Amino acid sequence: MSERRADRRGTPRGRDGHVARVAAAALVAVLVLGVCAGVAVAVSASFSAAPPASGNGGDREVVSDKAQPEEPEASAADDDSGEQQLPSDDERAADLALDPNRQTDWLDHSNGEKTLYLTFDDGPSANTEKVLDILDQYGAKATFFVTGHEPEYRPMIAEAYRRGNTIGMHSYTHDYATIYQSEDAFFGDLSQVADVVKEQIGYVPYLTRFPGGVSNTVSESYCPGIMTALASDLQAKGYQYYDWNVSSSDASGNHVPVDTIVQSSCAYGSFTNVILLCHDSGAKTTTVEALPQIIEYYQSQGFVCKAIDRSTVVVHHHINN
Ligand SMILES: [Zn+2]
Repeated sequence: MSERRADRRGTPRGRDGHVARVAAAALVAVLVLGVCAGVAVAVSASFSAAPPASGNGGDREVVSDKAQPEEPEASAADDDSGEQQLPSDDERAADLALDPNRQTDWLDHSNGEKTLYLTFDDGPSANTEKVLDILDQYGAKATFFVTGHEPEYRPMIAEAYRRGNTIGMHSYTHDYATIYQSEDAFFGDLSQVADVVKEQIGYVPYLTRFPGGVSNTVSESYCPGIMTALASDLQAKGYQYYDWNVSSSDASGNHVPVDTIVQSSCAYGSFTNVILLCHDSGAKTTTVEALPQIIEYYQSQGFVCKAIDRSTVVVHHHINN
């Protein structure tokens, strides 16, 4: 593991109770009239999460006076790639593969260990390889929630996985009007992107992220109540979805200034388990430029950059439909 830096700075301190104000809310049974899918479905919302968000990037409520990144440290690049001891491919597949019959004891609060889970939505893209190289340079791992866009870059899904990162599904079309029109439409799209991922890594992973997050306020205009239904049904099928508790703000436009992305990304407040929303697309060049500073800052604060797995805190936003 690349904990060399963390070790040097002392053992990460636990601050249970702060993080992820992800309360395991009581199961709230909600009857969603089947105006979209044609049937009435009884659903339940499980965790409700801390930062409400109105969509990608609209969630930043974590403010910290520690948000100013430190100067890059000369030693930051000392970490060689491959330092982290990864499980074998078989072990990773066994952990990360979708298994509807598997019972996972999902973590709904911080484990107290300073951990940064970098997440990249919307790739693969012309920038994916650059992102992977930066991650390797810092001994960092990340999670990629991929799409069906830009088929020519699909081999980067396999490459990201080979380098120890986790792959999850985002959406094949990423078209809100298509995927949020009905449950059938959503799961049809999900199976398409699942096929893309399986082709690259050999199996369908359990990880997903909704376009716009589960808290998006767009889906409602296509099908009221659909996020409540999807959140429940996804989990019933063995998937888990991950929202975020810190946003890089790189979704607010293309070419968001590097400093803005760095400051937003590093404003983790009291969170110890940080799931950071970033985007991987050809136009997001400033995200790539900001990445070294983001990783250096977190590492200087004792964080270790890991990829999501079944032991990772599950951050769910509040559902707004
Ligand atoms: Zn997206």
